[in-house]
Amino acid sequence: MNSTAFLPFTRPTIDEETIAGVAEVLRSGWITSGPQVKAFEQSLSELCAGRPVRAFNSGTAALEIALRVAGVGAGDEVITTPLSWVSTASVILQLGARPVFADIDPVTRNIDLALVERAITPRTRAIMPVHLAGLPVDLDRLYAIATKHRLRVIEDAAQAIGATWGGHPIGAHPKSDLVTFSFHANKNITTTEGGCLVLPDDTSIKLAEKLRLMGVVRSGEDGMEVDVVGGKYNLTDVAARIGNGQLKRLDEFTSRRKALARRYFERFDPSLVAAGCELPPADFERSCWHMFQVVLPERRANGAAAMSRADFIRGMREAGIGIGVHYPAIHLFALYRKLGWKDGDFPHAERIGRGIVTLPLFPAMTDADVDRVCAAMTAVLGALQ
Ligand SMILES: *Cc1c(COP(=O)(O)O)cnc(C)c1O
Repeated sequence: MNSTAFLPFTRPTIDEETIAGVAEVLRSGWITSGPQVKAFEQSLSELCAGRPVRAFNSGTAALEIALRVAGVGAGDEVITTPLSWVSTASVILQLGARPVFADIDPVTRNIDLALVERAITPRTRAIMPVHLAGLPVDLDRLYAIATKHRLRVIEDAAQAIGATWGGHPIGAHPKSDLVTFSFHANKNITTTEGGCLVLPDDTSIKLAEKLRLMGVVRSGEDGMEVDVVGGKYNLTDVAARIGNGQLKRLDEFTSRRKALARRYFERFDPSLVAAGCELPPADFERSCWHMFQVVLPERRANGAAAMSRADFIRGMREAGIGIGVHYPAIHLFALYRKLGWKDGDFPHAERIGRGIVTLPLFPAMTDADVDRVCAAMTAVLGALQ
């Protein structure tokens, strides 16, 4: 981007071929779920080692249906992370089940699997980890725990399309149970809004399809039956056409994100790290680098309070750079406090939730953009040193 334009923390890359394709769908006479959705599901299935994939109108809807496919219902417990987009915990509550949070590992910022094992009770039905910022949780260890305790797993891979574990793309790992992706505008590929559910085998395809569209089962020429309460969660062909254009470029987008992340490590001011700024793990193999996130220190070396996150974000905005916050700890939102959670329950998630900032990272960024962000950080946070 040009050196004076405002640099947002993210921006989708939609090419002209895709835009023309969307116009074609709009003129075709069929604009809701149809051939574009089928083609999108087929391409996603190819990316996921041939597993069945069904598209949804949001990642949140895909998560909700994944939980229902896993048999989660009223009274069940689902173990998840307190550091995620609020959808992750919200879908559990929506089904009348209870989220059981396990604190995060402060280095990976993902759920701490040792704490997951300790959180298991006779009511636990499933584990729902999040591959935060595109960095996968340890799937070998996760599935060892799930198998030992006979639990279902829903991988919230909203941010992890293009990431890998053990050489397998997330969604294609031989051990994986249910996996969901999001195609929200800010994610690594987008359909504006959308998501999908990757199923481990054919047995629950029909259930996932029913739950996606009002519980309706079609039979014969004009027959229709409803035997379960479903949502209205189908993706449109207009949106799926965007997804089809995006999916072709996934590898290119992921490589570019990795290259930009590498440059952040090269250009990030080491004196800021010495002053307490925490960088993400430098993983260029497995992570798909959905975000590049830095945790700001709360104290200076002399013990005085460091610059507040709000002041940092303001300073960066004045320098023409957009900064995101992903995320405040979920258990400290008003709803969750009302349900009994409190300050101090998950110290790592709370500290990181207070200090985390998302720096600009998207495929259309230039190397010079990264340099500009790093220089601005030194200027804005300079007082820390
Ligand atoms: C984006 C996101 C979701 C929800 O996806 P939507 O498509 O916005 O509904 C869920 N979990 C995580 C971790 C996300 O980042």
